[in-house]
Amino acid sequence: MKTLILGTKNRDKLREIREILLDVPLRLEPLPEGTPTSPEETGTIEGNAVQKAVNYAEHVGTWCLADDTGLEVDALDGAPGVDAALYAGPDATYADNRDKLLAALEGQAVRTARFRCVMALANPAGEVLATAEGTLEGEITTSAAGEGGFGYDPIFRPLGETKTLAEISADDKNRLSHRGAALRALEPRLLELL
Ligand code: IMP
Repeated sequence: MKTLILGTKNRDKLREIREILLDVPLRLEPLPEGTPTSPEETGTIEGNAVQKAVNYAEHVGTWCLADDTGLEVDALDGAPGVDAALYAGPDATYADNRDKLLAALEGQAVRTARFRCVMALANPAGEVLATAEGTLEGEITTSAAGEGGFGYDPIFRPLGETKTLAEISADDKNRLSHRGAALRALEPRLLELL
């Protein structure tokens, strides 16, 4: 079985990618201990996903799959967008980011938003051979609910659902999510290339 490195330092993303790719006949490995963190400095979600896939593939010398995700809130002209991880500052926790977003939307009736995720696959030479995008439309709730998921999940309710992403099961989140959609779109190329 071929090995694919999952180019993320985020344990929650790592867990979800593993769950979503459970039946794919590839050995999925985390980044080796001590791998330097790839910068995210391109200004776009796709650019950041490609940058991470290239840097980590070159560093480790194996096939690498990297993820970058943004949260676009319409009432905030698309913020926090690509900067979702650092929305409340360089040392922001998930809770800090959620609190800042809820405060920014205080009294706001229009709360539509979407997660956008791009997955990029690079070969051991650091060439990107495939990318895929997945989105999840929904809205930002007025308070946090649920213990599941991570990040903005407790304040994000998918379109047509009554619960936040943190109130549904991991399987249900993966079925609906931007990350699930991106990975399912990439899967045929993944199997063809590896
Ligand atoms: P990045 O992709 O590493 O730049 O992180 C994007 C930010 O969005 C991080 O703060 C994550 O916590 C958050 N995020 C990414 N994916 C999800 C998700 O599936 N649910 C909720 N928040 C997420």
